[in-house]
Amino acid sequence: ALIHGTYIIGENEDGLYIMDQHAVNERINYEYYLKEMGKETIETTDLLIPIKLEFSNKEYLILKQNFNILRNINIGFEEFGNNTIIIRSHPNWIKKDYVEESLRKIIEVIIEEESFSKEKFNEKIATTLACKMSIKANEYVSLEELKVLIERLRQTNNPFTCPHGRPTIISYS
Ligand code: ZN
Ligand code: ZN
Repeated sequence: ALIHGTYIIGENEDGLYIMDQHAVNERINYEYYLKEMGKETIETTDLLIPIKLEFSNKEYLILKQNFNILRNINIGFEEFGNNTIIIRSHPNWIKKDYVEESLRKIIEVIIEEESFSKEKFNEKIATTLACKMSIKANEYVSLEELKVLIERLRQTNNPFTCPHGRPTIISYS
């Protein structure tokens, strides 16, 4: 059964369990991003319509100092006048329906963090995007989708918590 669309209550041979839908999705997506970002060869997609992003003076100053980070993660862009960049291509691990949203988030992280190691950066991006892309609290999933979700959770390295440490499943015996 689904309660409030956030927690899913189920039963198995060991007793009752409560699953946090958002935390489960976050764990799955987090590991997806980390894995994809860590690949040696990153495939990219050219945007049919380039995305123009504008920033404040202060933001742009920081971003400009970190243009190499954008290039390192295979975001193809150029400067375009005042505090603006035009993005022409992006790595394929960015999910198709969330390209602009994801690019904005990635740049937000770059501006907020200013300096960090590659490993930490990838982790931060993966956590941020995973949260954003995970089913919102009130979205209902069908039983079929639920089964797929649980199967995918099983295949993660750490199925017990979301990347923030929140439990994905609590069982009661
Ligand atoms: Zn979240
Ligand atoms: Zn979380």
